[in-house]
Amino acid sequence: MENKHRVLQLLGDWRKLSEYALPRLTSLKTHEITMDTLTAAKRSWNMSRIRGRNTRIEITVRSTLHRLGYRFRLNTNKLHGHPDVVLPKHKVAIFVHGCFWHRHPGCRFAYMPKTRVAFWQDKFRRNVEQDQKVQKELSQLGCRVLVIWGCETSDRDKLANKIKSEMGQLK
Ligand SMILES: [Zn+2]
Repeated sequence: MENKHRVLQLLGDWRKLSEYALPRLTSLKTHEITMDTLTAAKRSWNMSRIRGRNTRIEITVRSTLHRLGYRFRLNTNKLHGHPDVVLPKHKVAIFVHGCFWHRHPGCRFAYMPKTRVAFWQDKFRRNVEQDQKVQKELSQLGCRVLVIWGCETSDRDKLANKIKSEMGQLK
């Protein structure tokens, strides 16, 4: 038990581990926990955050939308591309993109890891292609797309201004 606790701490802030990783780890017997299972758990946690629900940046965007008086729906899995937030009245799909995974152009958070560069390049390319494809298809369906980047959520007033101005332009 002691060992299991220690390895969970090794994963960093294990309280942040989502339902993806924690049950997998806690269902294992201590002797079954190896660096491989840890790495796999951490990876699945990271992956869950690519299409993360209830991440900090998403919650910030929601509360800003709420403050601005927009009515919205969440986790609209029925809508193409699974946008993070949808404003049905305005026919707007909002994607809240982490800068690293979705490659925010020119952003310091969209850095390239120093190891396994080919792997990351391929992964990033596929993420970006998928984002572009979905956005194009949504606009073909008559839905307007607003992308909010993670780094744009640190200043709430700036974020509110961006949403207001982009919503104005979208109309
Ligand atoms: Zn950014």
